[in-house]
Amino acid sequence: MAYQFPQILYSYDRLEPFIDAKTLELHHLGQHQHYTERLNDLMERFSALATKPLEETVADIRTVPQRVRQEFRNLAGAHLNHSLLWRVIGPPKDQGPSGGLLTAITARFKGFDRFRNAFEQVALERFGSGWAWLCLDHHGVLEIASTPNEDSPIMLGLNPILGLDLWEHAYYLQYHRARHAYVHAWWHVVDWGQVDQLYHLRRESVPFRS
Ligand code: MN
Repeated sequence: MAYQFPQILYSYDRLEPFIDAKTLELHHLGQHQHYTERLNDLMERFSALATKPLEETVADIRTVPQRVRQEFRNLAGAHLNHSLLWRVIGPPKDQGPSGGLLTAITARFKGFDRFRNAFEQVALERFGSGWAWLCLDHHGVLEIASTPNEDSPIMLGLNPILGLDLWEHAYYLQYHRARHAYVHAWWHVVDWGQVDQLYHLRRESVPFRS
């Protein structure tokens, strides 16, 4: 089964001025398409990897034969991470979270502003390439996390509902070394309606790993 490269349903300039059109196009068409093609190529060569959902294999990465484990880790993580990313960002609406998600964020982090500060701090502490995440743990409790490279938080037993790409390909063309400016601007393109949907969906789903 070939993994699908998800389309973006708006033009590449719709995240401006926060993420410019060239950066988004290179990231989506350049990076993600390339990762997906390489993942599909790997799955063709090692068809045993394709017998269960990608998330399940990623959750138990030690079951992957060692000779392809690192390649699978990178490519499956990259495909899952970017598929989530395109879902949770979109044209700016400048809305924060609402409803059950806002209640949960407020309860867990003592308010939305404090959550945002804590998330930004984790993002800025990531040295080199990686991601910052808002996840649900096995008990449905919200956790901020960070992973290096293209590791998925699913590898840590966490279910991601929001992800911030900290690779230089995500911002360098526009922001150069100013990762903090990118991280700060990025909140404008978070689609909280989608994050809220994922929050409710993942709370009800069985965790990938116990
Ligand atoms: Mn990326």
